[in-house]
Amino acid sequence: MPIFEYACKGCGREFEALVLPTTGAPSCPACKSTELDKLISRPAIKSETTHGLAMKAARKRDKIAGSEKAREQREYELHHND
Ligand SMILES: [Zn+2]
Repeated sequence: MPIFEYACKGCGREFEALVLPTTGAPSCPACKSTELDKLISRPAIKSETTHGLAMKAARKRDKIAGSEKAREQREYELHHND
């Protein structure tokens, strides 16, 4: 859903607006001004979460790679015991 947060330059009111190609530019619900600042707080939070998930995935991958390396090392040692 393309919901964006805006701050009205006219009265300072902050509001969320659903912006669709068919609805056009949003206007302030208080003073009907279309002079708005688009707030980027929401996408910033979202990218932070995405970054966190990416880090988690990377750590998981490292852990798997690490255990695989350990297993290879163990097999190498087993084959060189005789
Ligand atoms: Zn306003």
